Amino acid sequence: MTKFTDLGLSPKVMKAIEDVGYDTPTPIQAEAIPYALEGRDVLGIAQTGTGKTAGFTLPMIHKLARGRARARMPRSLVLAPTRELAAQVAENFEQYAKYVKLDMALLIGGVSFKEQDKLIDRGVDVLIATPGRLLDHFERGKLLLTGIEIMVVDEADRMLDMGFIPDIERIFKLTPFTRQTLFFSATMAPEITRITQEFLQNPQRVEVARQATTSENITQKVVCFKPENRKVEGKAKRDMLRSIIKEEGDKLTNGIIFCNRKVDVDIVMKSMKKHGHSVGAIHGDLDQRYRMEVLAGFKNNDITLLVASDVAARGLDIPNVTHVFNYDVPIHSEDYVHRIGRTGRAGRKGWAFMLCLPHEQKHLDGIEALVKQPIPRMEIDTPTATKPERTERPKKARPPKQEEAKPVVAEAVVEKAVDAKPTAPKEQPRKKPRGPKGNDNNKIKGLGDHVPAFLLR
Ligand code: AMP
Repeated sequence: MTKFTDLGLSPKVMKAIEDVGYDTPTPIQAEAIPYALEGRDVLGIAQTGTGKTAGFTLPMIHKLARGRARARMPRSLVLAPTRELAAQVAENFEQYAKYVKLDMALLIGGVSFKEQDKLIDRGVDVLIATPGRLLDHFERGKLLLTGIEIMVVDEADRMLDMGFIPDIERIFKLTPFTRQTLFFSATMAPEITRITQEFLQNPQRVEVARQATTSENITQKVVCFKPENRKVEGKAKRDMLRSIIKEEGDKLTNGIIFCNRKVDVDIVMKSMKKHGHSVGAIHGDLDQRYRMEVLAGFKNNDITLLVASDVAARGLDIPNVTHVFNYDVPIHSEDYVHRIGRTGRAGRKGWAFMLCLPHEQKHLDGIEALVKQPIPRMEIDTPTATKPERTERPKKARPPKQEEAKPVVAEAVVEKAVDAKPTAPKEQPRKKPRGPKGNDNNKIKGLGDHVPAFLLR
């Protein structure tokens, strides 16, 4: 088995690894780090949870330790699809670079341009950014990418889902041809292959086995049911969800409820709150400060249930949870494996429940084909619109309860989008240059209590 000492990392980096408490490199680290240190381009096929962040940050720190940053010309660039992921990469850098003097800047939406400009003006070794925000800075003339020695693209498959590929191509073209590129993606869609062929130079491909299996520690169940009509689907699902949560009782200490659409994240969160649950939500349209606060609350166990979209939750280092609820059947089968992989970690027990309506059956079939096993069906009685006898009630017998009336309307409006792609994040693909947002001020906004220390320096 490869040891960290075999990888060729500098003593200062090794010391930081020791402090963090890692014993052995993960497979992606063992494979990618030596090539990255040699200066090779690396194409890493790895999912989140494999230790890929350290796989690129450690060699970057080792290499950047030599040399100095010049004003407005960062020496390295890490692109991440969401603000949270970018902030998480920044936290990793902080941890691993504590014995090396490196200046960093995090360019994400929700943080004041002015503060970010100040950092860039001073000169940074490492720039960590979401694509849209990076291009905003570039277009404001505040940033030159011609000094980039190392560029990392993290979670390229998510970038593709979110429509960022044109931005990524543009950013590649703004950086020097001589740069080293470390490119990570969980899957290799044709569009991603095309980009890597165009912008990577003879890359070393390193791959860790795709996660197509689910942990044996996780008890999986799916509830397939048919509400009386599509208008009450949302309410039926929420009632069902609450029934399951009630049945789980004390087994449930903390759980994540995944929805396919942002609108449902909001609706489910409000509904759970109304029914007395301790709950928070994260998705790409929510205010950054709120998102960070919710995550912190969930990590500290102040919040029991987190309602989330895949994009917002993807790659987030969330502690083990007892329960995962798939409010919707994920459209991409692999998302099921990611979602339920949040529970049953480190040998602990976990429970994963999924709600499946008839029109979601095709996605359920896809998941079962991927994990190569049927997901056990569960029958559960709910006091809701799912019961057949209610179809016999006169149509206008009773208006929906006040608290549920709004969600049903909202769902009816978005019904057509059921099979749409997963929720898009706030950082949308850019169509035309954007100026600074009106709400800039001198304060670092949007990071709650989690402002990485380097932003405060
Ligand atoms: P990532 O896939 O980069 O999001 O990392 C997933 C988790 O693995 C993070 O919590 C890391 O702190 C942790 N991790 C990364 N490298 C190692 C390692 N060599 N040994 C143990 N844990 C690690």
